[in-house]
Amino acid sequence: MIENLLKDLQWALAFDFEAITPAKVEKALSQERLELTDLGALLSPAAESYLEPMAQKAQTLTRNFFGRNIDLYTPLYLANHCVNHCQYCAYHQQNPLRRGVLSREDLVKELAAIKALGFRDILLLTGESRARSGPDYLEEATRLAAGSFASVGLEVYPLKTPEYARLKAAGADYVCVYQETYQPDLYARVHPKGPKKNYQWRLMAPARALMAGVRGVGVGALLGLGPFRPDVLALAAHGRFLAHLSPAAELSYSTPRLRPILGALNQFSQVSEKELLQIILALRIFSPSFGLSLSTRESPHFRDHLIGLGITRLSAGVKTSVGGHDGPSQGDEQFIKSDERDVNEVRAAIVARGHQPVFADYARP
Ligand code: SF4
Repeated sequence: MIENLLKDLQWALAFDFEAITPAKVEKALSQERLELTDLGALLSPAAESYLEPMAQKAQTLTRNFFGRNIDLYTPLYLANHCVNHCQYCAYHQQNPLRRGVLSREDLVKELAAIKALGFRDILLLTGESRARSGPDYLEEATRLAAGSFASVGLEVYPLKTPEYARLKAAGADYVCVYQETYQPDLYARVHPKGPKKNYQWRLMAPARALMAGVRGVGVGALLGLGPFRPDVLALAAHGRFLAHLSPAAELSYSTPRLRPILGALNQFSQVSEKELLQIILALRIFSPSFGLSLSTRESPHFRDHLIGLGITRLSAGVKTSVGGHDGPSQGDEQFIKSDERDVNEVRAAIVARGHQPVFADYARP
């Protein structure tokens, strides 16, 4: 199974984007069902002159598959202890920031405070520390969240299939595991130590979660670590692999851009808003049924602009520190946000663009 995926990733990473002509972009835009080669064309420099027709097609597909709905959710950081050394993340093990983990009592208060804001979809996050936030801790946190929220997502370290099954039984609905970069050499450079060094273990985590029975998985690439075009094409190959593996699953993409952090170890390249727009339109056209989320790493103006053009999911009222919804936070921030708006402000922005904010689109059986 993994061999086929690795072969597709190798192909995507070697794709010659510079060789794409306007005729190939136009052919890709005229297709009803796109191959990965067509997506490569839409991601190419040649497609930069086709953003308007891409936006029109993306808008139509988004409307057909998702109507005018925009799901709203908020993340809750449970802990920021981490044994990894990711060169782009404030939580890397050597960074001397304030670390914390929510106790059961804190967690109950945090969940109540978030629910009081109107949220019914919550994403629980941790760094990678089996000692501080191991599977037992995650299971309890998931169970508590599932008691109050219609949908519970997890963005935690890669787990074994039976561990995902435990979390699914506790109420986990979806799991997000972002590969960060699909480029093996770059992956090795930015993950020099710790369990995250294991590229293939992380790569197959979404498949393990699906095999454990979760309803959906999210995959993503962190834009700015290296050349973004190969990473986005590889991300789509990963998404297609998961869709074949589990055709009924709810699948989604995320394409966060790097943000400033406390204690950054390295400088990375920039991806412009225009390039991010092209990426989002291209992914929407290639995978019309996939969810697409846009985090508070992006500015309010840019997030609002993307409503209706491909995005299906927005976060609001975000804190990237540990807890902080009910009293002071218990650990420093993972990154510095660009959109500080609370839920009412994001909800109003969605309505102002003629869309419907959705707090719950699922009822537990
Ligand atoms: S990206 Fe995740 S695994 Fe890496 S240092 Fe940050 S919290 Fe830890």
